[in-house]
Amino acid sequence: MEQSEIDLLRVKKVQPFLNLIDGQSVGSVSGAVMDVISPIVGSPLTTIANSSAADMQAAIASAKSAFEDGRWCGQPPAARKKVLHKWADLIEQHALELAVLGVRDNGTEIAMAYKAEPLSAAGTIRYYAESIDKIYGEIAPTADNVLGLIHHQPIGVVGAIIPWNFPMMIGAWKLGPALGVGNSVVVKPPETASLTLIRMAELALEAGLPEGVLNVVTGEGAIVGEALALSNDVGALAFTGSGTTGRRLMEYSAQSNLKRVYLELGGKSPHIIFSDTKDLDTAAAVVAGGIFRNSGQVCVAGSRLLVQRDIQRDFAAAVVEASQKLQPGDPLQLDTKSGAINSAVQLQQNLHAVETAVKEGGNVVLGGNQCHQESGGFYMEPTIIDEVEFDHTVFQKEVFGPVLTITPFEDEKHAIKLANGTDYGLASGVWTSDLSRAHRMVRAINAGVVHVNTYGGADVTVPLGGVEQSGNGSDKSLHAIGKYMNLKTAWIQL
Ligand code: NAD
Repeated sequence: MEQSEIDLLRVKKVQPFLNLIDGQSVGSVSGAVMDVISPIVGSPLTTIANSSAADMQAAIASAKSAFEDGRWCGQPPAARKKVLHKWADLIEQHALELAVLGVRDNGTEIAMAYKAEPLSAAGTIRYYAESIDKIYGEIAPTADNVLGLIHHQPIGVVGAIIPWNFPMMIGAWKLGPALGVGNSVVVKPPETASLTLIRMAELALEAGLPEGVLNVVTGEGAIVGEALALSNDVGALAFTGSGTTGRRLMEYSAQSNLKRVYLELGGKSPHIIFSDTKDLDTAAAVVAGGIFRNSGQVCVAGSRLLVQRDIQRDFAAAVVEASQKLQPGDPLQLDTKSGAINSAVQLQQNLHAVETAVKEGGNVVLGGNQCHQESGGFYMEPTIIDEVEFDHTVFQKEVFGPVLTITPFEDEKHAIKLANGTDYGLASGVWTSDLSRAHRMVRAINAGVVHVNTYGGADVTVPLGGVEQSGNGSDKSLHAIGKYMNLKTAWIQL
């Protein structure tokens, strides 16, 4: 990837994007559109369809008939695998175009977006392409006079509701297994980052995915997302986003057909540094990267730094120094370490969280402000708040922006108490040179992942999911496949 290639793509006019329903690009029934505001400059980039419940229902009907006539689920797994591999090839061939389009839409720094979005999405689709022809049914250990068979069958129509921070990567975590095992899918992309998911679905058609198997409908969550979640024709919903929306989806399921609802929600992940850590400078750099990449808009961001008291002062200073190097800049420059905030609304929420933190007794030791106002876009300085206590809002509630808090702890027991002291349980990190302590911490921390002497970076081979109010179902790995299949028993008298 060269800067000159990015520079050419960043000025390309972006045509209005339409829904993809039944294999066709179509506008909303009403013709309504909504502006796509680029967070890089704060001005309109293009438009997407501002769809209604009727548009969503058309997409669900298309997915349902595609499932019922078996045009996809009726194909042998080896044939589906071939299409998925071709799709991954096409995503890779268009990786730069997709990455730049996505960055213009959501503001992530291009160096990260290129790998984390198209390349990671392609890798995930390949992983599931390779998995689906290795799923066997089972024979139950019954008495001799019966045969108990366990079949794994696709559910039917799956709804996927996606957030704006990494739409392609998170989309692929759901689409790979859901489509791979034969379901039809309707995607509801996020209002502020829809474009790449539509483009990705177009490439799926080009790869040979039959029409109607993958549909994408854009618009407001409270309208089209709700219509998807309330549909009696959708058998499962796979969601990544906020806890507020996640709760609504469970209500919609209860009000409709009791569809399965898989939730991947937010986090307030602790990053814990024991004073016996060997290389504190490396740890400080990783702590800074673990919160400030993509301006903190990462579900697993290590947003609560817990430091053993005897090293607190020096370590905090090292983190501040490392964080100063992660100032936001133009997301389409290859050397930018941290991009834009996704929207004006999110920026205001971040600034408000800092204000509240200060009111409650926190002390801002780095940043705290909006920056690069001259660009017209949405940027915020890496922000570090010291003297944050257990009951402060900023310790308890996710910001989803570039805000790190610092809180000291005395010993292992105290660290665990602080780490587990929020409603969330998504990710965490522990730095120590004591192997036994590392294992004890892995067992003791309530989280879907505990990183040890590193942070982030887990690949598709391992699950990502939260416990407590961070969610109820993991994406990634072979474990995700079962979410998109029903078990059926055949009980046969011999
Ligand atoms: P959000 O809940 O506002 O929106 C997520 C999606 O839900 C969007 O597509 C939106 O249109 C849709 N939606 C909104 N209201 C809806 C409704 N009433 N019915 C149906 N759909 C609706 O979240 P967001 O702001 O896009 O994303 C940020 C949140 O996502 C953060 O809390 C972050 O931690 C979380 N997140 C979690 C993970 C994870 O893997 N656990 C990954 C990324 C982001």
